[in-house]
Amino acid sequence: ATPMSIMVGTGRAAQLGVLFRRGEALQQLRDAGIVAFDKTGTLTEGRPVLTDLIAAEGFGHDEVLALVAAAESRSEHPIATAIVAAAEKAGIALPAVDGFEASPGHGVTATIGGRKVEVGSSRLLAGLDLSPFRTAVERLSSEGKTPVFAAVDGRLAAAIVVADVIKPSSKAVVDALHEMGLKTAMISGDNRRTAQAIAAQLGIDEVQAEVLPADKVEAIKALRAGGRVVGYVGDGINDAPALAEADIGIAVGSGTDAAIESADVVLLGGDLRGVLNAIKVSRATLRNIW
Ligand code: ADP
Ligand code: MG
Repeated sequence: ATPMSIMVGTGRAAQLGVLFRRGEALQQLRDAGIVAFDKTGTLTEGRPVLTDLIAAEGFGHDEVLALVAAAESRSEHPIATAIVAAAEKAGIALPAVDGFEASPGHGVTATIGGRKVEVGSSRLLAGLDLSPFRTAVERLSSEGKTPVFAAVDGRLAAAIVVADVIKPSSKAVVDALHEMGLKTAMISGDNRRTAQAIAAQLGIDEVQAEVLPADKVEAIKALRAGGRVVGYVGDGINDAPALAEADIGIAVGSGTDAAIESADVVLLGGDLRGVLNAIKVSRATLRNIW
């Protein structure tokens, strides 16, 4: 494509709310073989709600919710927001938090009234016997809901389940990408069963689940195997390195500054259908149709 047609192409894209931060990205996007998506906040709304709290024997429902919500009140993770909102809605007062530590991709640990409260994935609570919750957790995960676990002083206290809604446009975008001849993938920190359930609902080809924030870059590299050109669409939370690693990094949603800095393409207004517009403009530009 000539510099002139690149200029025209980026102008057309901008009218559609698609900002190309690098002209070369137009060219690379034309050659993309696969588009990978972040799950939470990109394919889903990213505003999960608490649907179930199953207290373990010896623990009261409201007692656990108070401890867990207090611990999560220090975290900005969407799961934390869901848990705190549920406690508020139930009118439960939160005890004071004396110590707090977040483990990205795993969960949180807090000290509350001299007790150690842990909330997070099965990996965070490795060493605890989670089998009392196995049947319920497998069923809810298969519905695409996300289970986390809570422990108090090293004793299993609850399974907590949150559900996030798939964005209305996600399925149509995945279908259209397939019609355009591209493959699709999803990269998620969520557990395998949940991630696979969401991917199946959307018809996504490849799923990488239980990917720690620091390992998203490796996940992108794996998708590039065999010389495939990889687009990655993320909402910015923990996504900046993956956006930078992808051949074409596409930032969607409110977009943190770090994400916008790392992205080649920014979708204004956060509409996922911008991905399709970006590809259409890139194809038209490279065919020099204007
Ligand atoms: P994603 O953005 O796909 O949810 P994360 O890396 O942020 O991925 O989180 C991966 C998993 O780690 C979550 O599904 C959850 O099990 C656990 N986790 C992370 N942060 C928290 C938190 N604040 N509270 C509870 N669980 C958490
Ligand atoms: Mg996300």
